[in-house]
Amino acid sequence: MSTRSIIAIQNKTGFKGGYHHWDGYPTGLGEYLFDTFQEDGWGMVEKATSHSWSSFQSEECHCCGTMSDGRREKFWVADENSECGAEYVYAFTPTHMNIYGRKIDGQQVIEFFGMTTPNAQWDLIASVDLNGKKPDFNKIEQEQYV
Ligand SMILES: [Zn+2]
Repeated sequence: MSTRSIIAIQNKTGFKGGYHHWDGYPTGLGEYLFDTFQEDGWGMVEKATSHSWSSFQSEECHCCGTMSDGRREKFWVADENSECGAEYVYAFTPTHMNIYGRKIDGQQVIEFFGMTTPNAQWDLIASVDLNGKKPDFNKIEQEQYV
């Protein structure tokens, strides 16, 4: 599913990182990022945030021409103001992966065709301790629809 997201490093005012096109929901990319961090640590975060990914899982990015069609597009920095149709953000701090959902009045927004709903905002869904026990990503994904 092309659930768009952003993988980023959190800073004082927001976050900065790269765009990610496929499977950006918590049980897809979110869980994969947590698992990969356990193996590769901060090196994974630096890699994940410095490409415009089609899919991080299959190592296909827009910027390095590693997609099956060989297409190549310039890397661009995605942040809290990017209008790229992202529905989730995975924002890393030195200790946590903060998961934000695109919301209006607490309701998750479903973005279509890469459009961005103008009056939506980024709400924190979960703050996952990177050195703690693996959380239930199903639960994280479902709680936001309550
Ligand atoms: Zn790349």
